[in-house]
Amino acid sequence: MDILTKEDGKYYAYEVKGSSEVKDRILPLLPKVREYIKQMNSMLGQTTIPNIKISPHCSDSYGCSFARHCWKDVPDNSIFLYKGIKGKTKWELFNSEIVTVEDIPDNYKLNNTEQLVVSSVKNNLSYINNEVINSFISRLNYPG
Ligand code: SF4
Repeated sequence: MDILTKEDGKYYAYEVKGSSEVKDRILPLLPKVREYIKQMNSMLGQTTIPNIKISPHCSDSYGCSFARHCWKDVPDNSIFLYKGIKGKTKWELFNSEIVTVEDIPDNYKLNNTEQLVVSSVKNNLSYINNEVINSFISRLNYPG
């Protein structure tokens, strides 16, 4: 399907492939594409790197190719390593310049799981919940 649009007094032809549902979602966006391209070209023409802090956008909706550069100052043992700490909490901590679990103040507001993770890391202790593990194992069946 070819679409002809008029933008800035000029006509532009776009070829749009896909289902009509996709086309219905794309059509309202087309007038903005030219402006986005202008913004991107303007950014590419800059001689200095934009001063953008790392944030959840670095992995939303996929990992960014520049992460090795932008994340170079984040240590390997940072709060981002721990799945038991919620993403929102990690970014609140990071934006408060708290980067490792060891730096989290003891009175920092955390949920139960986060407290468990922080306490385990700070005290170098493993936490094993036998009840949960046994419950999981009891639901497994030998392949038959
Ligand atoms: S890693 Fe990518 S998304 Fe994150 S700040 Fe750097 S350039 Fe932006």
